[in-house]
Amino acid sequence: MRIDILTLFPDMFHVPLSESIIGRARKKGLLDIRIFNIRDFAENKHKRVDDYPYGGGAGMILMPQPVFAALEAVDAKSSRIIYPSPKGKIFNQQLAIDLSKEERLVFICGHYEGIDQRIIDHWVTDEISIGDYVLTGGELPVMVIIDAVSRMIPGVLGQEESYTDESFYSGLLEYPHYTRPSEYNGLNVPAVLLSGNHQNIEEWRKIQSLSITYRMRKDLFEKYIRRQDLSKEERKLIEKFFKEYLKEK
Ligand code: SAM
Repeated sequence: MRIDILTLFPDMFHVPLSESIIGRARKKGLLDIRIFNIRDFAENKHKRVDDYPYGGGAGMILMPQPVFAALEAVDAKSSRIIYPSPKGKIFNQQLAIDLSKEERLVFICGHYEGIDQRIIDHWVTDEISIGDYVLTGGELPVMVIIDAVSRMIPGVLGQEESYTDESFYSGLLEYPHYTRPSEYNGLNVPAVLLSGNHQNIEEWRKIQSLSITYRMRKDLFEKYIRRQDLSKEERKLIEKFFKEYLKEK
């Protein structure tokens, strides 16, 4: 996948997009990430990129000219162009999967008070929010989106890093993990995980997933148990969870 990032702060991306899984994916050629400084496209003498809002009010607005010029220079027209914004659709795993199927994504990082609405109206295909809070700029949201999207691209995660067991993939949150030693300062790993009985382990994990989702995210739990595509086994486990686990609590 090719990813173009238009930003006023290119340096913010260098380390986060060069380390670990994303760094490896870039080296393997699975991700071609290009970072452009919006300021380089400003046509005025002082390379100014922002100005006061018409109608008054606090903050500065990113002007259309340098952003239009940058988008034209990278030939963004036929790509999905994403503007991270608190006003956008809330980002989630399904949207990450959806975006991972694109051949190319272009991101525009807002800063200050935001960007001129004409950039959004003329170019942007997706306005995406990473949560109901306001950050200083679009750089962190872009990194969050790129990270979540990249790991959905075939080959980016190693075999040992599969995402299918993870939170949200099945609609539930993930079960808890434990590693060596089996007893630490008097704290024990659940016996079933040491039993070697894979069927019991599998069932324990699914019940734990149901339980954690029930406690932490009732909205996801309700949605999951109403799904029409659940298997007979999955329905049985939900019944068991209601009968045995919830009764215990
Ligand atoms: N004035 C804007 C508003 O009230 O909606 C907020 C502007 S914010 C200070 C500057 C930039 O940060 C935005 O243009 C956007 O690119 C980015 N940003 C801030 N919060 C965000 C969020 N929750 N999700 C995605 N992007 C965000």
